[in-house]
Parts: sequence; structure tokens; C-alpha cells
Amino acid sequence: MIEAVLTLTALGVVLGVVLGLAARFFKVEGNPLIDEVEAILPGIQCAQCGYPGCRPYAEAIVNDGEVVTNCPPGGMSTAALLAEKMGVDLDLSSMEEKEKTIAFVDESICIGCTRCFQVCPTDSLLGAPQQVHTVIPEVCTSCEECIPMCPTGALSMVPIETTVQTWHWHKPDSPGHQARTR
Ligand code: SF4
Ligand code: SF4
Repeated sequence: MIEAVLTLTALGVVLGVVLGLAARFFKVEGNPLIDEVEAILPGIQCAQCGYPGCRPYAEAIVNDGEVVTNCPPGGMSTAALLAEKMGVDLDLSSMEEKEKTIAFVDESICIGCTRCFQVCPTDSLLGAPQQVHTVIPEVCTSCEECIPMCPTGALSMVPIETTVQTWHWHKPDSPGHQARTR
């Protein structure tokens, strides 16, 4: 019995050392700036920037000098913070502050085909075959991927109503941003 306990303990120690060494020697050095840029982005992976998620867009900004105004959900405040982080001048003239919207199902014309349900990347749609579908507003990221899928036009994007729950304090422009956009 003691031999078994000692053997298992020794095995655990050896495996622990091996894992520790592996973590040290096979560590992938990432660019910390990409992490910081990604942290500024909304993180909703909606792909509206044209990249398959926030991380690839952050990598393109840092590695390829991609413009910082490609994130519609983030809007002008996110673009300003990205420009601040990258130390680039910000031309907001090409950017439109997109109205915050979420998907909405007109249940009177929904036929329960489940096409929207199958494409939603955040499982924001609830429904079953031949049953009326509906949207979970708190989960919808406004990626609009479901809209072209609906054969009856039951799906549309509607403005997010400003309530105590949905109102949020806009980040004030930083002194550096104000200087750059004057
Ligand atoms: S817009 Fe549609 S597909 Fe996108 S998260 Fe909302 S419900 Fe899902
Ligand atoms: S795609 Fe349109 S009709 Fe089909 S389930 Fe979704 S909302 Fe209903």
C-alpha cells in the first residue's frame, strides 16, 4: 500500500516537472500589443470588420497597419482608443456611428424553418422546427448573419431601446485623442 502511494506520488512529481519544463520551453511568445488592441475591441466576434473575429482584426491592425475604423459595434469611441493605442491619426470622416440594433423576429410570419437558428454564432435564437423562433436580446451581437437566411422576412434588425439596462456611459475622449482629431 505504501509502495503504491509512493509510486503515485513520484509519478505525479515527475509529470509535474515535465509539464513545467514543457510550458517554459514551448511557450509561444505573443506580441503583447495585439493583446492590448484585442482588449479594446468589443470581443463579440461578430465579424463585421471583415475578419473572422476580434483577435484576427487586432493582429491585422498591429501587423499589417489595418485601419482602426472597421469595428461597427465598437463605433467611434473604440476607433479613438485604437488610434490612441497605435499612435495613429484618426480620420473619422469615413466612419458612421452605427445605431445599436438587435435582431427581432416577427412571430406572426415566422414559419419555424430554423435557418436563422443554424447560422447564429452566439446561439441568440430560440426555436424548434415548425415552431416560432425568438431572439434572446442579451446575447445577440448584432452580427446580422441571420437576416439574409430568413425566407419570410420575419427577421429584421431593430434599434436597441435605451433603458436603464442598456444605457452605458460613453468613454470620454482622451486628451491625446482630442489633440489628434482637432
Ligand atoms: S444578429 Fe442574428 S445571427 Fe447575429 S447574433 Fe443576433 S440573432 Fe444571432
Ligand atoms: S429564418 Fe425566419 S422563418 Fe425561419 S425560423 Fe428564423 S425567423 Fe422563422
